[in-house]
Amino acid sequence: MRLSRYFLPVTKETPADAQIVSHKLMLRAGLIRQTAAGIYAWLPLGLRVLNRIEQIVREEQDKAGAIELLMPTVQSADLWRESGRYDAYGPEMLRFKDRHEREMLYGPTNEEMITILFRDAVKSYRDLPRTLYHIQWKFRDEVRPRFGVMRGREFLMKDAYSFDLDEEGLRRSYEAMFVAYLRTFARMGLQAVPVRAPTGPIGGNLSHEFHVLAETGESAVYYDAALEDVTHEELLSADASTIARLTDLYAMEAEEHEKVTECPVPADRLRTRRGIEVGHIFAFGTKYSASMGMTVQTSDGGNVHPHMGSYGIGVSRLMGAIIEASHDDNGIVWPEAVAPYRVGLINMRADDGNVTSAADDIYGRLQQAGVDTLYDDRDERGGAKFATMDVIGLPWQLIVGPKGLEKGVVELKRRATGEREELSVESALARLTAA
Ligand code: ATP
Ligand code: MG
Repeated sequence: MRLSRYFLPVTKETPADAQIVSHKLMLRAGLIRQTAAGIYAWLPLGLRVLNRIEQIVREEQDKAGAIELLMPTVQSADLWRESGRYDAYGPEMLRFKDRHEREMLYGPTNEEMITILFRDAVKSYRDLPRTLYHIQWKFRDEVRPRFGVMRGREFLMKDAYSFDLDEEGLRRSYEAMFVAYLRTFARMGLQAVPVRAPTGPIGGNLSHEFHVLAETGESAVYYDAALEDVTHEELLSADASTIARLTDLYAMEAEEHEKVTECPVPADRLRTRRGIEVGHIFAFGTKYSASMGMTVQTSDGGNVHPHMGSYGIGVSRLMGAIIEASHDDNGIVWPEAVAPYRVGLINMRADDGNVTSAADDIYGRLQQAGVDTLYDDRDERGGAKFATMDVIGLPWQLIVGPKGLEKGVVELKRRATGEREELSVESALARLTAA
């Protein structure tokens, strides 16, 4: 993409209303703009990152055997009356009426909808187990929307729902999602701690929240230092023993931790850090299948209410969490896996025909090789171009200038470390086109 034809409203000033670094950088780097309290437009560069995060989430859901569908954002109030949650949900739910005075709402979550879709189609044990998911916008009228996309009112969530014949099946579905979550966050370069979560009045049996450790997190998390020793490789290939270890290792939110009278972790191994909740998984059994009358026939002719779980990931919140975990004084440092473009190509002298034809040629070759490239072909000062590239945080910068070209070299800069290297055009291209 040529920057001269793109829409990238980068700003130098630090926005006054932004308190945390990810929010500031998302505004400065031209990723988002607020259009109403807690509601954001995703600008082209931000949308590319959002799509990449979404795609990693999707791939790991698919790998775990979950099946994608798409449910609507707008739901009818009657659906929620079936489960009894319409009155219980409270003011976070955005309610409105259509022209026929029918009560509607903008979905904050989809347990009810998936339950009727499944209930009306599935009658036999042969059709279980199944896990279905979608990636869809949600609306929650949060009391205090803040920190940009971290706590928005409209936000993108992946929510999955599992249906099993019995508790043991539910446990297996839950563990498959647990592993998928570890892999998902690890692929984005995040260290996410699985925290045992309170299950609330529903009386469900099992729940974990996944917290990315960051100073600006909204929750305080206590955990066993041994969690820090789990390697990236272990997370990516989590087997039964890793799962057992991770689900058993101590990690609690502060308010839960306070209720613990005898701490099972020796004091010297107990750590406390702040965390951003990026995912939440929940095994709640027959709550919805019972209240909404969903039954399936068992192999011996009986009838049971399927056991369900629900599994959320804050897709848009993840973008903020990734920036909190990966930035420096000059801007964002995108992990390769979610970067909006891999390479930022800088033409240092757009007013110089030789430099421009060399840069154009490199751009063409990068495109041909399928390397996502943002090409700064504008007639601007070099300093401004560097600052823009640094703030938007693409993993590689390739700098083409007159002095280098005289020597037959271009400069390759790695954003994460700031290392610069002079290379021939051919070696630079070889480096950038290597997987
Ligand atoms: P929180 O305690 O942060 O309000 P929650 O418990 O209400 O989260 P869930 O209902 O479990 O959240 O939703 C699943 C995931 O959706 C959360 O783990 C979080 O990552 C994300 N999420 C929830 N609320 C918001 C929001 N207002 N803005 C952005 N992401 C959100
Ligand atoms: Mg909430």
